[in-house]
Amino acid sequence: MKHIYTHDNIMVVHSARNVLALNGIESFVKNEHTIPVGANHGINNTFLELWILDDQDYEKASAIIASEIENQAPKDSWVCSSCNEENDGSFEVCWNCQSPAPGQTSQ
Ligand SMILES: [Zn+2]
Repeated sequence: MKHIYTHDNIMVVHSARNVLALNGIESFVKNEHTIPVGANHGINNTFLELWILDDQDYEKASAIIASEIENQAPKDSWVCSSCNEENDGSFEVCWNCQSPAPGQTSQ
């Protein structure tokens, strides 16, 4: 077993685990059951650890997490070139006029 990833947001850890599962890598979340059910207070202080079962998957797993999870960090906000409204970095089109975000058109 090998520790592959740590995050304080259970949703992030679970999505990392799901991504690994889709790639055929078995993993499990440590510390998950130390959080009392329904206790939202203090959850941010508990770091959840993701461990892989097979050490030989480590390089592949860390590459997958780097590309699939860590690259999803919040993006900078952007200004629409059509209407000059500011948009959240997660928006792929302008909320006001539906113009595509910069960089979205080339895909
Ligand atoms: Zn716009």
